[in-house]
Amino acid sequence: MKFDRPLFILSGLVIVAAFLTGCGRSEKSSDADSARRTDEPYRVLCTVGMITDIVRNIAGDYAQVEGIIGEGVDPHLYKPTRSDVVNLSTADVVFYNGLLLEGKMTDVLVRVASSGKPVRAVTEAILQTSDYLLQKEDDSTYTDPHVWMDVRGWMQAVTVVAETLSSFDPAHADIYAANATAYTVQLEALDAYAQQAIGSIPESKRVLVTAHDAFNYLGRATGLTVRGIQGVSTESEAGVRDLEDLVNYIVEQQIPAVFVETSVADKNVRALVEGANARGHAVRIGGALFSDAMGQAGTYEGTYIGMIDSNITTITRALGGEAPELGMQGKLTGVAH
Ligand SMILES: [Zn+2]
Repeated sequence: MKFDRPLFILSGLVIVAAFLTGCGRSEKSSDADSARRTDEPYRVLCTVGMITDIVRNIAGDYAQVEGIIGEGVDPHLYKPTRSDVVNLSTADVVFYNGLLLEGKMTDVLVRVASSGKPVRAVTEAILQTSDYLLQKEDDSTYTDPHVWMDVRGWMQAVTVVAETLSSFDPAHADIYAANATAYTVQLEALDAYAQQAIGSIPESKRVLVTAHDAFNYLGRATGLTVRGIQGVSTESEAGVRDLEDLVNYIVEQQIPAVFVETSVADKNVRALVEGANARGHAVRIGGALFSDAMGQAGTYEGTYIGMIDSNITTITRALGGEAPELGMQGKLTGVAH
């Protein structure tokens, strides 16, 4: 899938900027613009969908943006195919999450970066913000990579993308900056919705139990207590002990709902529900959350904003809070509920 974004948002600012700089597609690059000497769209390759979506929003039609890891696919376990390696080596710019999210792609990303082209981790700006990143409880060397779960954290990824595209294609830097500003306004609204919706859940019910520990940044941002069956990577199997501890917790706290994830097998979550039911506490599956992959391409849930809107709406409604059935903008298709 390539250019299926007909309603790319152009703010008045963008149009003015384009007019002032005479940014027609036929404009020739100056000699100073050594990185770009053609008006053909350049090629950007991204690992996970959440990054692909940001880049499409910032680059518009100036780049052909493709993602490697599709819907419902777990990036912790994803091994690059031969054609991925070819695509990575021929792309003009590469974005990945970093923090070992794409643990099995590290070698190939390092190799591609050694060619000298821009290969950027979108979390690199966050790395420079002290105290933002969360560590794994029992292993301080393992940093939680699921930064996109906190909309404010992901805004920093938008900044990295805009800066990288601007230095690669300086002729359109004004447009990338304006697109980033317009997209950030949408993210501000998304963050406000998340705060308001989660804040409406009765305090004793603000507990999120999921298949793996992908939601700690959301928890910190909105005041949800988060418990995942598996750790921050799905590479480790959940032990029986972990499941028993969580069943006890669910029964004691009278938690009404737990959640499956679209990119992780649901057998552990179903075992939790059976365990709690056997102890006389009726807990239900509150819905499917998008953790490490977005929804189907071409749908609202197949965008970053739609994915987070779906998660927030699903969690809020299942735990007794108030959120519109079709989400922040009335656009949810209900596929994940
Ligand atoms: Zn994960």
